[in-house]
Amino acid sequence: MERLAADGGKPVRTEAFPVWPVTGEEEERLVLEVVRSGKWGGSGTRIKLPELEEKFAAMHGAKHAVTLVNGTLGLTVALQAAGVGPGDEVIMPPYTFIATASSALLFGAVPVFADVEPDSMNLDADRLEEVITPRTKAVVAVHLAGAPANMDKITAIARKHGLAVIEDAAQAVGASWDGRPAGSLGDLASFSFQLGKNVTSGEGGIILGSDDKRMDAVWSLVNVGRIKQGGWYQHERIGWNLRMTEFQAAVLLGQLSRFEEQFQKRERNARRLTELLNGIEGIRVLPRDPRVTRHAYHLFLFGLQPELEERIGKADFIAKVQAEGIPVHPGYVSLNRNKAVRAAVTRLTGQEREVTCPVSERFSDRLGMWLHQNVLLAGDSDMQDIAEAVRKVAEWARAR
Ligand SMILES: *Cc1c(COP(=O)(O)O)cnc(C)c1O
Repeated sequence: MERLAADGGKPVRTEAFPVWPVTGEEEERLVLEVVRSGKWGGSGTRIKLPELEEKFAAMHGAKHAVTLVNGTLGLTVALQAAGVGPGDEVIMPPYTFIATASSALLFGAVPVFADVEPDSMNLDADRLEEVITPRTKAVVAVHLAGAPANMDKITAIARKHGLAVIEDAAQAVGASWDGRPAGSLGDLASFSFQLGKNVTSGEGGIILGSDDKRMDAVWSLVNVGRIKQGGWYQHERIGWNLRMTEFQAAVLLGQLSRFEEQFQKRERNARRLTELLNGIEGIRVLPRDPRVTRHAYHLFLFGLQPELEERIGKADFIAKVQAEGIPVHPGYVSLNRNKAVRAAVTRLTGQEREVTCPVSERFSDRLGMWLHQNVLLAGDSDMQDIAEAVRKVAEWARAR
């Protein structure tokens, strides 16, 4: 059946965008090596995991790395290693994946939302002090879309109040702020290797940090409460078994072999797409802070200008652009309004907290949308298709 655009005519585009994950001989060779070695992980000899941990730490200017099962529990472990306990409050932005909040709620810590900056949708440092209380223990800065949050301001305020700073760098492999890599900007950082992420092993995560004591705690929490130089049945705290397997490390080393090339391609296409989309009346690409010296472009964020939104509405606009063959996505629901998060906070605090985050809510409800990183692995003419589809729908809406 022929696909039709929303106006009943021919869609701008019918070909698919690049398939993700991209894989190749490197992954196959390394995984086969692990299979044949019998050293698959668990409590056995580590063969690929140390290489991955060293490489990833060096790439991000961190002294230590601990691999683990996923980015959600990476945040949980980072929070606990930073001294956050049940009942403590953790400040975070609301425009993020639910894991940022659930990682705290899963052990009884309370997420407190501070609104985001309208330009980056990252945590707004100017909103931080309003929500700090005697129970606040940490700030989680999400590097949304692959653009680091303003870590100069966030860490300065956190230091002043004695709070730990955790980077949720799930989307920010290879990114940097003012020349300093994500993963070295706070006290601890958590990355994700879930299937959609820019470097993937299906599932997986890694925690980076440069403080020996904190990273020993991370290691211990991931390794059933053991301590590094201790005996096998010497458990000094209650920890999980969250270890990554050697198969995942093999895949990830393969992924890293083509990472920089893909990174550059995403940057190039994002720059081009920014130019093209900003030339369309009613469309706004979120501006890139000049201090984002490397942007990972896990997501390409853009949105409607309010005048255009009033004419068409976000849902209708997205449906029409999708009908033109472009996989545009409506983005997150602002977490301060997520029912499960709110219910969990109420259960923990005994209070119904009414939190409004107007910037996040407006972007989520009315203006914002994104393209996923795999779209940015296409060619220049594909960026032109995207812009043409967006232009077609925007012009249709304006002429109405
Ligand atoms: C993917 C993601 C996570 C969670 O990672 P998982 O590996 O899927 O558990 C956390 N925070 C953000 C911002 C993410 O994008």
